[in-house]
Amino acid sequence: MLVRGGRLVDPAQGIDARLDVRIREGAVAEIGEHLQPRGDEDVLEAQGCIVAPGFIDMHVHLREPGYAEKETIETGTEAAVRGGFTAIACMPNTNPALDSPGVLAWLRDEVARRARCRVYPVAAITLGRRGEEPADAHALRAAGAVAFSDDGNTVMNARVLRDAARAAGDLQTVFISHAEDEHIKGDAVMHDGAVSHELGVPGSPSIAEYVIVSRDLLIAHEMHVPWHIAHLSSHVSLAMVLRARESGVNVSCEVTPHHLVFTDETVRDLGAGAKVNPPLRPQDDARALRDAVRAGQIDVFATDHAPHTAAEKAGDLRTAAVGFTGLEVAVGAYALAVPDLPPERFVAMFSTNPARILGVAGGRLRVGDRADVTVFAERPWRVDATAFASKGKSTPFDGRVLPRRVVATIVAGETRYRDKATGPT
Ligand SMILES: [Zn+2]
Repeated sequence: MLVRGGRLVDPAQGIDARLDVRIREGAVAEIGEHLQPRGDEDVLEAQGCIVAPGFIDMHVHLREPGYAEKETIETGTEAAVRGGFTAIACMPNTNPALDSPGVLAWLRDEVARRARCRVYPVAAITLGRRGEEPADAHALRAAGAVAFSDDGNTVMNARVLRDAARAAGDLQTVFISHAEDEHIKGDAVMHDGAVSHELGVPGSPSIAEYVIVSRDLLIAHEMHVPWHIAHLSSHVSLAMVLRARESGVNVSCEVTPHHLVFTDETVRDLGAGAKVNPPLRPQDDARALRDAVRAGQIDVFATDHAPHTAAEKAGDLRTAAVGFTGLEVAVGAYALAVPDLPPERFVAMFSTNPARILGVAGGRLRVGDRADVTVFAERPWRVDATAFASKGKSTPFDGRVLPRRVVATIVAGETRYRDKATGPT
């Protein structure tokens, strides 16, 4: 096929130019100006669009095995390609947890049969994600794990985490922190501040995050393990990441769109619909994170896609399930959060950087590379969660008009999603 007339943005190669991309047998065959279709080649007209190396969401809860009522490999990866993602990394808080080569083998086989995009497993740091005993990192790596995390929970025992990092050190595979001190957090349902006091519900202060970020960065430094801080929510955590980076720690970090756009004030309006871990913080934090994105201090745009059933989300603030669906709104939501971000940074945070951090192929479109391509454009659209492919319909962006939209998602040269509502012009 031929992707024609678009603006190719590939930060890995320093390309930002009007260039056509020819794809053959799943790989990039030719990049150049004014390429002409040959024979019966499909043509994707991309005028007015940005053509980028495929987007990679490194923080997705795919829910299988164990929670198919929340999401399946089919629905989650269909949501991914509709959201512009050619690959996702899936978190290990499944049942059973992704803590053994056997479970990873099951997942690999099911993904091969059922997935619409690439799926990279993030294996558990500890057995059963219980935080008590390190899982076998070498065996998990050999079985395909691209990262280690107990995401959903923090490894609260520092000795266990340090032992796990030491044992995995020679792999140089990234550890991903879900940073919330469970003792400080207690039974909190939102950020601890004026709004939680007003609503009379237990809150979790930002220190619950940065006390763990601080600890994990010290372990990363000591053990020389690459480290990634997931869903950064407070400006103090950000400062710690920057300081650690300056002192030579190999640390990266991600944000979510909801922490950039919404605040604890949102809980007043949406109630359980604004319940997420870590919680939505005050405006000062959201603003600091947006500024950090603009300053190039944040590496990755992730979603923390965390689908639940409608019944699980239907409770009140205290009882409702935690988390939002995110794959299908990410491109538009980040454009809403940081509208002035240059396209090369937008693409780097969605593609180049997650590929580098996870050590996976992609993040680049060079002749010979596999043809994972994301095409998007400045086309406003209104979010309608009922139309999502994901089984999870809860997002604070529901009903919002987002300025940017995915036009096509190409995985290994095959068009897995094409925007039918507007179509490339
Ligand atoms: Zn998490």
